[in-house]
Order: sequence, then C-alpha cells, then structure tokens
Amino acid sequence: MQKSWKIETQAVQGTYEPRPTEPRIPAICQSTTYKYDSADHVAKLFDLELPDHMYTRISNPTTAAFEGKIALMEGGVGALATSSGQAASALAILNICRNGQHLVATGTLYGGTYSLFANTLPKMGVEVSFVNPEASLEELQAAFRPETRCLFAETIGNPGLNVLDFAKFSELAKRMNVPLIIDNTFGTPYLCKPLELGAHIVVHSATKYIDGHGTSVGGVIVDGGTFDWSREGKYPELTEPDSSYHGLRYMDTFGPAAYIVKARVQYMRDLGATPAPQNSFLFNQGLTTLPLRMERHCSNALALAAYLQQHSSVTWVNYPGLKSHPSYDLGREYLPKGCSGVLTFGIKGGRDAGIKFMEACRLIALVVHVGDARSCVLHPASTTHRQLSDEQQIASGVSPDLIRVSVGIEHIDDIIADVEQALRVSQN
Ligand SMILES: *Cc1c(COP(=O)(O)O)cnc(C)c1O
Repeated sequence: MQKSWKIETQAVQGTYEPRPTEPRIPAICQSTTYKYDSADHVAKLFDLELPDHMYTRISNPTTAAFEGKIALMEGGVGALATSSGQAASALAILNICRNGQHLVATGTLYGGTYSLFANTLPKMGVEVSFVNPEASLEELQAAFRPETRCLFAETIGNPGLNVLDFAKFSELAKRMNVPLIIDNTFGTPYLCKPLELGAHIVVHSATKYIDGHGTSVGGVIVDGGTFDWSREGKYPELTEPDSSYHGLRYMDTFGPAAYIVKARVQYMRDLGATPAPQNSFLFNQGLTTLPLRMERHCSNALALAAYLQQHSSVTWVNYPGLKSHPSYDLGREYLPKGCSGVLTFGIKGGRDAGIKFMEACRLIALVVHVGDARSCVLHPASTTHRQLSDEQQIASGVSPDLIRVSVGIEHIDDIIADVEQALRVSQN
C-alpha cells in the first residue's frame, strides 16, 4: 500500500509502523550489538539465513528505518546508509568494479566525487573515463571498453547546474549493458526519481537536502533492483559463489536485491563506513519534511535568480529554472516540480567584488555547504578553488566572478534584501 502513496505521505508515514505501546518515532537505537539465545540463531544470522541485526557496522534498527523510507521514496528494492556521501559513491562502485576494470562518468561532477574518480580509484586499479554529458550517443559509446562496469552521472551537475539528459544516458547504459548510477543529491526523490527514468542505482549525500538542517554527514545507496547482473557474465561477484559466505551466490539467494545485500554484507562488513544511529535518526527526521522544504528551496531559488537577472551589478545568472539556461527544457522534463535550491551568478568587478559580496552577506552565511535550510554563500575562486590558477579555475567551471548561493527556506524578501545590500557593498 505504501508504494502507491504520494511521496509527501511516504516521507511522513513511510515504512515505520509501531505496534501498540511502541514509540511513535523510530527510537535512536544506540547499541553496537544485539542479544541472542542460541548458537544456532547466531550461526543462521552469520550465514545470512535470517535478516535480523548482528552488529551495528552491518545493520541497526534506526538506520534500517531511514534506509526503508528512502528506498520507498526513491522506488527501490533496498538501501544501504553510509557514513558520508563519498562513502556511498565509493561503495556503490567498488561493489561491482574491481582492479583492472573501468567506468565512464560525466566530467561535470561534484569536486569530491571527481577527486575520488580522478585520483583514488585509479590507484586501486579502477580507471575512469570522463565524458561531456552534451556529447552524442555515438561519442559517449566510444568511451566504453570491454571492461567497463558502470556509468555514473549526477541529476544536476556541479557547478554548471546542467540537468542530465536521462533519456540519452539510460539508452547508453542499456546499449552498453552496464548499470546507470545516479547521484541524486541535488535532485532529491521529491524533485526527481532516477529509477523511474532508467537509472539502476541511486546515491545521495544525505548531508545536504535529506538532513536539510546542517547537522550530520552521511550518505545512502538505493538499489532499483532492475539490472540483470547475469547477462553476459560480466558481474561474477553477484552470480558466482562468495567464499566469505560458504559459497553463497547473491543473485540466487537475494534475487533483485542481490546488489544492495552484497554491498552491505561484504563491503560494509569489510570497509566499515557505517553511519552512527544518531545520524540515521536525524536523516529520517529530515526526510519527513523533505517535500515541503524542497518546494520552498525551489521557489526561493527561482525568485532570487529572476531578481539577480535584472540587477545591474550582475553579469550572468546560472539556474536551470530560467528560460535562458541551456538545461531549461531538460529541467522542465525531468525536474517538473523545480530545479532545486542552488544557483550561481557572475558579479561585476570579478574576484575582488566577489570577496566583498561574500563577506558583506549577513543573513546568508559564508559556509562551504549546500542543501541547508539556511541560505549559504560561497565565492569559490577565493576559497575552495584558491590553489588553482585562473586558467585551471575556468577549466573546472569556476570563473573569478562566480558566486554560488544555496538558497534556503527563509522568506524570499529577507534573502533578496540581504543580497541587495551585499551587492551594493561589493561595488564600492
Ligand atoms: C556533498 C556531495 C557529495 C559528497 O557527500 P559528503 O556527504 O560530503 O561525503 C557527493 N555528491 C554531491 C552532489 C554532493 O553535493
């Protein structure tokens, strides 16, 4: 029944159904371990014959409540919460990609993901080819190799805020017979459901809109359960025996949930990037109001973008909800409820004006963060990207005049008033 609910109802009531006298809210189960009565019970747990909790590194009731709700909201068969968004992306890939294999990713990625793909995965023997998301299907196909094991992209790129052409990327994944993994951090399941648009796996940095209140770092992987891992024998780790579980075969035993069960019982067991139960509790709370908050983030961002567009101290505005944006049509198609809460703009006066603007904001805080209920501002050229030369900055999409605003859920009049006074200061 819950699957047919609207997402607003799933966010509030989904998954957790307390019995009489049980807590109304999923409790914070701050316990590392669980008690059993017999050796037989423990043996069955460790042989994966029973789904009960064994140890909080692998699963926990509070974390399970969060995982259940996000899986429901994304329309997946299961989810695995992680200690950060970075851990979610890394585990999602390592689960199906090993030394000697390869993946294809869009080049317009979040900086941390880009660094993981460009520096760390290659050290582990996993090569990554970056592609331009605007390239044609044929050009994109040319980046694939026999050992390519997945295709990775973001719903909304960063910092370009380009919206993914889901039709093209899902067709590409289908033709090349690899799963499409989507980072839906900026999209959120309220604005975009990648699994309904041809993606097979979704990852999130829960640190951003899912938490929404700037309290916890975390991530999550959601498995759509639709990819056939047995086709072409390309994923033996899912179809052949796992010697660390007495020769268990994930696909035979867990069917459509094979990928997400393996990620948990093999890689989470061994790599241990587990969320704290307290953080899972906060992510679950965050999901409750996610649809409401996203509505406001979107309407505020669009209103601020329109305001900036007509301001004489602003040279350009980048927000996919504006008709002038190259992704406007893709946004209408794939983000019909709004294009999320992050925008960038160019300030007249370049780098110096950018620093002045950022320091003059009062309501909008200088924070290296996005997706918070509170508005945040950043001038990347003088902060996160300052070690790069001007040429390198421009190559990574950060021009000296670029200001990024993560528009919060305050009243739009107060946000605009703060921007207005800071723009005035920046020009003096
Ligand atoms: C922040 C972010 C990440 C990394 O998440 P952390 O929780 O900071 O580890 C990954 N992808 C996107 C799009 C992000 O914004």
